[in-house]
Amino acid sequence: MRPEVRVLGRALSPFTAAARRLRRDCGLTLIGWHRVDDHCGDLSTPVSAFRHHLDELEAWGARVLALDEAVARLDAGTLPDRAVALTFDDGYASVVEVAWPLLKERGFPATLYAVSGYLGADRRLPWDLGQPDHDGLRLVSADELVAAAHDGLDIGSHTVSHPWLPRLGTRELRRELVESRTALEDLLGRPVTSVAYPTGGWDPGVRRAAQEAGYVTGITVDRGLNTARTPKHSLRRAFVPHDPRDLRPLLDGGYTVLRPLDTMRRQETPW
Ligand SMILES: [Zn+2]
Repeated sequence: MRPEVRVLGRALSPFTAAARRLRRDCGLTLIGWHRVDDHCGDLSTPVSAFRHHLDELEAWGARVLALDEAVARLDAGTLPDRAVALTFDDGYASVVEVAWPLLKERGFPATLYAVSGYLGADRRLPWDLGQPDHDGLRLVSADELVAAAHDGLDIGSHTVSHPWLPRLGTRELRRELVESRTALEDLLGRPVTSVAYPTGGWDPGVRRAAQEAGYVTGITVDRGLNTARTPKHSLRRAFVPHDPRDLRPLLDGGYTVLRPLDTMRRQETPW
């Protein structure tokens, strides 16, 4: 996170926290990570920082819910205050090996979004190929994913090949959404109800295709609180800044003012 953004978020935090109390609106906060390991990299959260994130969630009074339950309760009007659901994108093995045991210790459910065409310890995601190889880049294998799902980790789809979905034609878009869901369902023997759009790339056509592909929820990286009025196939989510001091402003909604930047980012193909 850029320093000026961090300063802004922290400065606004008391005001957004007060506004949140005044509105009394129950909303669902979705947050996410990628890797949890002690290797460097933009997508890596050090293990000690991740522990601090979990401490901060507890200190803030977060009610951490499974995503499906949280969305159902949002619809039913029974969501508790400070409801949060936790997510991990890309299917890195460190989520299963490191993050999940720490989450289980605290009774926190979570959803891991796996790229169905990249299940395998010897596979590397395209952006990791140019880096010196290390264990932090390892992706979860099919067997590990099945074992983690049996152990209670919720599994969602992150498409077949992690493309920027808005630029795909209708047929390819449908294939990415449907084939990843059916492949994961065949592997896990249970419904896969949620998709996280790669790099947060979505538009109304992608949202419609996700719904038609049978998903109950579609997850973006547009910041903000989800209310009962938020479309279920473009739910808002923020990735957790590495510095644990930045999590509370995020939970209080301090970064929601930056949402216009999210809209601008979505209109640019990232590669
Ligand atoms: Zn991703």
